Amino acid sequence: MKIFKFGGASVKDANGVKNVTSVLEQVGYENTLVIVSAMGKTTNALEVVIKNYIEKSNELNASVQEVRKYHNQILLDLFEDEDHEVFFAVNAHFDDLEYFLRSNKSPNYNFVYDQVVSYGEIISTTIVSYYFNYKGLSNTWLDVRNFIKTDTNYRDANVNWEQTQVLITKKIEKGTLYITQGFLGSDPNNFTTTLGREGSDYTAAIFAYCLGADSVTIWKDVPGVLNADPRYFENAVLLNQISYREAIELAFYGASVIHPKTLQPLQQKEIPLFVKSFINPLLPGTSVSKGSDLEPHLPCYIIKKNQLLLSLSSLDFSFIMEEHISEIFALFHQHKLKVNLIQNSAISFSVCIEDKFNNFNDVKSILAKKFKITFNENVSLYTIRHFNEDAAQIVETNKTVLLKQISRETLQIVAKE
Ligand code: ADP
Ligand code: ASP
Ligand code: MG
Repeated sequence: MKIFKFGGASVKDANGVKNVTSVLEQVGYENTLVIVSAMGKTTNALEVVIKNYIEKSNELNASVQEVRKYHNQILLDLFEDEDHEVFFAVNAHFDDLEYFLRSNKSPNYNFVYDQVVSYGEIISTTIVSYYFNYKGLSNTWLDVRNFIKTDTNYRDANVNWEQTQVLITKKIEKGTLYITQGFLGSDPNNFTTTLGREGSDYTAAIFAYCLGADSVTIWKDVPGVLNADPRYFENAVLLNQISYREAIELAFYGASVIHPKTLQPLQQKEIPLFVKSFINPLLPGTSVSKGSDLEPHLPCYIIKKNQLLLSLSSLDFSFIMEEHISEIFALFHQHKLKVNLIQNSAISFSVCIEDKFNNFNDVKSILAKKFKITFNENVSLYTIRHFNEDAAQIVETNKTVLLKQISRETLQIVAKE
């Protein structure tokens, strides 16, 4: 079986959905499971809905209507007949969403987040599935929440692999074209959970692992994995072949073209991952598999924006030792701050961190009782794998370098633009 994943960019409008259909027609779609994310920036738009809901804002209804209107326009562009069943199916999902917003009693922000944001994927796959059928690509729509079981760690749920494996092997049949949602799962009480932002690539890997799939292809708006994000670096070059190990490193440092959790399950079963262009589907793109590290062997540039650089020193000039460090890390862990780089000297300790869940202020006030704190907000972390002099020069030009760290293959720089 083949697993395909189409992200938000590939289905951002009606032409996108038509193009996905054409990709399948060109490359074949028998015995294929297609995972689709929310359309365009829908997840961000639903995050606004959640914010309005939590803050009891007057804008709540308008923000829901905006998401409705966006999808309705796509439907109008795809289906000539406004009486087509798909309009009712999509409207029913929006009605369910509005019902949830009216009736929910849970004060748990993360729980509410997952219940609401999941409509993005539910609605996009409904539209894509109906459109495929409309165009003669007969398919079966699956609710992924009946397959991927997780714990209750809302917004960043952990997969229960045993249960997921059983459900997937029991219910998925060879030969069929399936359409299902990325990013979602369900907890032991069948409430919706999500696997972390951009988690649809990971969904593809979960299915691939459980089915022992032949391959996974993630279809992107770029020709494949490049040696740099083309949004920030000119002349990025396509990497034809990458080993799992190298791809894990690139994704871990923040090459956002592949979600970092995607690679381990694939590596374990040696399932090849292809990253290809949905604009030129017949081009080979990038193959991630066992084999040579990186082909061509070039420096790879990765940028993580919106980082915090935090430096702590002891109030009495004593050393910052293991005891302090373990305390600091426990605090980061509790508050879901992600540490991307660490550097320490005798009396100071610096970390470059990411505050996805907006907890930094709380952590800061706790730390301020014990340490002298300095920090820079909104800095960028640049990583160069397989760096050389020229590559370092390219990154450092026109920036204030706040911290630099070198290991054998990797150079990291924290800088302010
Ligand atoms: P999806 O639609 O699947 O969510 P994303 O937008 O998350 O796709 O990923 C594709 C984007 O990843 C590209 O448009 C590109 O800007 C960015 N990107 C970051 N690093 C790389 C890289 N090394 N190679 C290719 N694209 C990259
Ligand atoms: N729709 C989700 C997000 O935007 C998941 C994904 O696209 O992978 O984060
Ligand atoms: Mg994405």
